[in-house]
Amino acid sequence: MTSRLPRLAATWRCLVVWLVLLAPGADATSPCKGCNLIVISVDTVRGDHLGCMGHVRDTSPEICRFFANGIVFENAISQSPWTGPAHASMFTSLYPHEHGLNHGPKAPPVGDHPDLFSILKREGYFTAAIHGGAYVKQALPTKGLDSIVAGKSITFRRDTVGLLKRALADKPDGKPFALFLHGYDPHLDYKPKRNWFTAPQPDLDAIANESRFCRYETLPDGSKRIDPSTVPDDARARNHFEVLYDSEIRDVDRALGRLFEHLERTGLAARTVVVFTSDHGEEFFEHGSCEHVKTVYQELLHVPLMLRVPGIAPQRRREFVPASIGLAPTALEALGVEAAGHGFSGWNLLGPQPATRLFFAETSFHYDRARLRRFAAFRGSRKLVLDHGPGTLELFDLGSDPLEQRNLAQPTPSAADRQLEKALRAYAERSVQASKSGDVELDCETVRALRSLGYLDDSDALERCP
Ligand SMILES: [Zn+2]
Repeated sequence: MTSRLPRLAATWRCLVVWLVLLAPGADATSPCKGCNLIVISVDTVRGDHLGCMGHVRDTSPEICRFFANGIVFENAISQSPWTGPAHASMFTSLYPHEHGLNHGPKAPPVGDHPDLFSILKREGYFTAAIHGGAYVKQALPTKGLDSIVAGKSITFRRDTVGLLKRALADKPDGKPFALFLHGYDPHLDYKPKRNWFTAPQPDLDAIANESRFCRYETLPDGSKRIDPSTVPDDARARNHFEVLYDSEIRDVDRALGRLFEHLERTGLAARTVVVFTSDHGEEFFEHGSCEHVKTVYQELLHVPLMLRVPGIAPQRRREFVPASIGLAPTALEALGVEAAGHGFSGWNLLGPQPATRLFFAETSFHYDRARLRRFAAFRGSRKLVLDHGPGTLELFDLGSDPLEQRNLAQPTPSAADRQLEKALRAYAERSVQASKSGDVELDCETVRALRSLGYLDDSDALERCP
C-alpha cells in the first residue's frame, strides 16, 4: 500500500499540470497568452468607496461580483491625484515627471515613450480606446491605437456593450484585441441618474444640478482656488454630496454589470484579461478640501485595482502597490508579452511584492502661480509626504491610520524613516528639474471638455472657443 502512494502522488501532479495547461488561454509560460485585454478606467473612483473594499454604502455589487473571481489589490496607489498624469502613467509605466504630462491642461503632450497599446499593436493586437476626452485625450498614445471613439458624450450611461461593438467594428477576424474604456461619470458635477442611497434633499440637489458645489474661481493674480462660497460647512450638506458621488459610482456599476454579463454570456470572459481601475480618488474634507488634484493624501491616491486573468485563481492582495505605473507591465505579463526592455518604472504586480520596495506619487497643482508641488513615498505601510514649497514632512503608518489623521514625523526619526526621506527628496528634486516648461495651445474640443469639467472658466480661450 505504502509503495503505491508516490506513484499516486505523481499521477495527481501530472493531472494538475494538464488541467492548468488546458485552462482557457493558459500555457506553460503565462496565464493567458494570446488573450484579449480590456482596461476599464472609471474616472475619480476612491478605492475605499467600493462595497467589497469596506465602504458603508453598496456602490459596486456588479464590479465586486465579477472580480470576486479575480485578483483584488486592496492597497493600490495612483501615481498622481489627477487625470492626465495618472492615465499617462498607466499607458507608459513612467512617473508623471518622466512622461512630462504633469503640470496642467496646457502641458506639452506626452513624449515618445513605449506604451501598453503600441507594444500590443506590434504583437498583432487590434487596439482601441473609448474615452471621455479632455485630459485623457492628452494622455492617450494615439499612434498605438487602431480605433478611437471619444468625446464628452462618452459616459458609462451609454450602452457599454454597444460602445464595445463600435470600437471593435473594424477588428479583423482572428486578431486579439486590447481595449481601453474610460468615462468621467463620478467626476464633478455629481448628477447621478438616481440617488441610490438616501431620500432627495431638494435644496442640496438643486446646488448639485446647477453645478454650484466645489467650483474653482480665478483670483486677480490669475491663480485658481476652490471658491469658498461653493463649499458647504455643515455636515448634512457635505454628507449629501458624498452620497450623490456614491450614486454616480452605483450608476457606473450597473452599466458595467451589463458589460460583464455580455463578456460571460458570449464566452469572451474566458479568453480576456479584464482590468478595473481609476486614475485617482476624491476629497470629502478629510484634509480640508473637496475635488482632487491638490494633495497626495490617500483619499486621492488610493484607487481600485482589480484584474480577472483566466488561469489565475482568485486572490485578495494587501500589499501597497503602485497602480498606475504597475498597470502596463502587469497586463503584459498576464498576456504573456515581454515587459522588460521598455524602460518602464513600474513592474509586474502579479508576483510576490517585497515589502521594502519603494515607490512614489506626485502632484503639481497647475492653478497655483507658485506651482504647488507635493510628493509622497511609500515603503510597506509607511508613507512620507513632502510639501515641496515650505519643505514640510508628514509621516504616516497606513496600516493603523489609513486616512492619515496622525502625523508621526518627529525630530528624531528612525534610520528607516531617514532613508525614506532621503529617497523622497531625491525623487522630488528629479521631478522639479525634469518638469517641462512652456504651454501649448489647446484645440477647442479639449477647451470645451475641460470647461465642462470645471477646469477652465469662461475667461480661458473664450474668444477662440466660444
Ligand atoms: Zn480623473
